[in-house]
Amino acid sequence: MECGLHTYRQNGALWARKDRWGVHTGVAASSIGVEAGPDQFEIARQQFDIAANFLNLDPAVRTILRDVQRVLTVNFPVHMDDGSIQLFTGYRVQHNLHRGPTKGGIRYHPSVSLSEVKALAMWMTWKCSIFNLPFGGAKGGVVVDPKKLSEQELENLTRRFTTEISILIGPESDIPAPDMGTNAQTMAWMMDTYSMHKGHSVPGVVTGKPLAIGGSQGREEATGRGVMIVTLEALKHLRIDPTDATIAVQGFGNVGSHSARLLADQGARIVAISDVSGAVYNPRGLNIRDALRYVQEHGSLKGLPQCDTLTNQELLDLPVTVLVPAALENQITVATADRIKARIITEGANGPTTPDADQILNDKGVFLVPDVLANAGGVTVSYFEWVQDLQHFFWSEDEVNERLHRIMRHSFEHVLRVKQTHDVSMRLAAYILAVQNVAQASLARSIYP
Ligand code: NAD
Repeated sequence: MECGLHTYRQNGALWARKDRWGVHTGVAASSIGVEAGPDQFEIARQQFDIAANFLNLDPAVRTILRDVQRVLTVNFPVHMDDGSIQLFTGYRVQHNLHRGPTKGGIRYHPSVSLSEVKALAMWMTWKCSIFNLPFGGAKGGVVVDPKKLSEQELENLTRRFTTEISILIGPESDIPAPDMGTNAQTMAWMMDTYSMHKGHSVPGVVTGKPLAIGGSQGREEATGRGVMIVTLEALKHLRIDPTDATIAVQGFGNVGSHSARLLADQGARIVAISDVSGAVYNPRGLNIRDALRYVQEHGSLKGLPQCDTLTNQELLDLPVTVLVPAALENQITVATADRIKARIITEGANGPTTPDADQILNDKGVFLVPDVLANAGGVTVSYFEWVQDLQHFFWSEDEVNERLHRIMRHSFEHVLRVKQTHDVSMRLAAYILAVQNVAQASLARSIYP
């Protein structure tokens, strides 16, 4: 497939465009000879099936957990700045409600599809289960390129979308959070819209809010902090000192930039980072704080001084100790897995490795910390935020970070123990734990009526 070409499904058809954040060419994939990319929900199901087979899961529970529980599709009009009205499509999916209210982010991206949102909702169920958070998984998304909308249009879209999905969300039923293309401001608009309808402030309806309206200390960098913590655990397991480790990070947004900065603070050498404009490389190590300042001033990593440029694919192939994919899904595929030289992969992004590639990496002896374990720092501190909102009692940043540290290390050790007991990959170990917990809850509650 042409380098950088991305395929996605919309209205049942397969489309292609140049890049996830680049120009949205939106041509029918078949018209340019592009074949279907992996279907995200099918991948999520394949991963679940492997664990369900291993556990010899009760057939009824398997049938229930293999699908999502609720799907809401909304087509809604938004007032645009030029006076026109544009129709947008959005989704809210709840995968499983057996362990508590559902929890999961809202994604604004042109390639959002129902299949992707369903996969992300299922992954959220497993994440919450591994960390023993009292939530089921959910996810939402709107098919939109947020970079093409003005601030006012984004606010209009967010407020209308919140209203459309308000039949599902609520502090006791389903709690959204930021994901790709959304941020604390989006959550503030969502919280305000929901509160206006209720007639009083409901901070617990979303997490990842600004501190001024009930956000939590430490939430902004929580996913990156979690990535840092499990990477240190993986290095410790392989008896590698962090100061001897070299690291490449794909993606320099919320997850990638905080992961890189916090790992550098631990003495690791970050030799390559990337964003949609490509990768930058310096074998002697990059100064991550300088890179963050550069991106703030210039909008991307392109032109960062004192380093060589690489493609995003070349970054994945680097001979580093740790590779952190923290951008998109399906980055490590059966076509590229053989070229990976990293000893450890910490999956900051959701679904960066396809199941076929997973097998190759496992055979090569790569120690892979799977997404459901590696990037759960965000939902964990979201849980802390929700608890603080419900109690109207707020914690210090040190308290938040200390609790996050404890829960991340505990979950890593738990998954590692399952891996060692059953001699399976870290991904399968994480799924065994996750599916077992949810299945127990499903069996205990049984089927109504
Ligand atoms: P973001 O929008 O803040 O950043 C995404 C980054 O990826 C940007 O730097 C972008 O330039 C880069 N990128 C886009 N296309 C690329 C390409 N083709 N090659 C290399 N880089 C590219 O998003 P984020 O919140 O950091 O999320 C990244 C991933 O982490 C997603 O899979 C998301 O679901 C997952 N995740 C995020 C959180 C969170 O708290 N933000 C939590 C768990 C998982």
